[in-house]
Amino acid sequence: RKLRVGLLFGGNSSEHDISLLSAASVIRHLDAEKYDVFPIGITREGVWLPGIKPVEFIAAEDHMHSSQTSGQKNFETFPEALTLSIKLSTPGEGLDVVFPVLHGQNGEDGTVQGLLELADLPYVGCGIMGSALGMDKEKARLIFRSLGLPVVNSLSYRSSIWKISPERILDAVEERLGYPNFVKPASLGSSIGVSKVYDRGGLRRAIQNAVEYDHKFLVEQAINCRELECSVLGNDEPMVSAVGEVFYTGEFYDYYAKYQDERSHTVVPASISPALVEEMRFLAIQAFQALDLSGMARVDFFLERETEKIFINEVNTLPSLTNQCMYSKLCEYSGLPYTHLLDRLIELALERHAHRH
Ligand code: ADP
Ligand code: MG
Ligand code: MG
Repeated sequence: RKLRVGLLFGGNSSEHDISLLSAASVIRHLDAEKYDVFPIGITREGVWLPGIKPVEFIAAEDHMHSSQTSGQKNFETFPEALTLSIKLSTPGEGLDVVFPVLHGQNGEDGTVQGLLELADLPYVGCGIMGSALGMDKEKARLIFRSLGLPVVNSLSYRSSIWKISPERILDAVEERLGYPNFVKPASLGSSIGVSKVYDRGGLRRAIQNAVEYDHKFLVEQAINCRELECSVLGNDEPMVSAVGEVFYTGEFYDYYAKYQDERSHTVVPASISPALVEEMRFLAIQAFQALDLSGMARVDFFLERETEKIFINEVNTLPSLTNQCMYSKLCEYSGLPYTHLLDRLIELALERHAHRH
């Protein structure tokens, strides 16, 4: 019998569209001899639509929007999702493994992982703790710092405090970090809500924007840097790939540079010294283990131009997963072509599930 793979995509997240791209690629490349794929689309409102493919999904969503009078909310559809996942986990007839190809909130952050734990279904990628820590830039930094791993100087605040005493926050940032700096929501991806700022007015506008997205935000010292990335794959003894570099033309690697600007590109392997490569590969494993990750993660670095100092920027526990993106390219370069990478991710999901039971 073929393995039945449930593939979750879309999602109630600001990275909904990116998930559709990743999912379409994963579905196309999963080995048809080995797997029966059962796609489950999740709308922006959190409604689960079983049996729908990413291409049909966009049309179905448009239809739902035009036929709905009032917007459905996530909590109203949660029981539906729970019932569905329990039905799908029925031994013998349900799914054997779930592949959450979801980015951002309600997918990459431990929420869906919790649902799958309750349903006792094996799933690809990090568990609850790893997903939650990986998504929360404030908590991830706290742990990296406490272990002596290199991270950029930063401050974090609750969005509610910003609304009460903005001037105090602006003063603290100026006193402790100076300019230029970066403002970002604590738990988002794809550079959504991220701004580079040069003065008090810019800082105020950037924070006002970031608090729209999240209940916490970070302000970080801006580093004049090259951006390098590394793929980690595995559970207890993860393997680490070569290092790749991203190139873009704008001020920083923003949403436009990531997904729309044709001038952006990646280079694998990065042209940096073997000593820097080894240090990054070592740090990638340290970061993976520090946050209790499993399955996969892309670990992103800043390499400061003047000093060649390395900083860990962040981990992405469900990175973009098309056959063309950095995570897959790095694995391919290190000897694991895309289809085999997908096999390995599923294998790791089953292994982790077996070890826990
Ligand atoms: P996301 O999870 O959305 O990718 P990041 O924290 O990686 O958020 O920030 C997105 C981009 O913003 C980075 O890839 C980089 O180009 C720029 N950036 C963020 N923080 C800094 C920083 N402290 N110094 C320099 N560039 C930064
Ligand atoms: Mg990033
Ligand atoms: Mg990210």
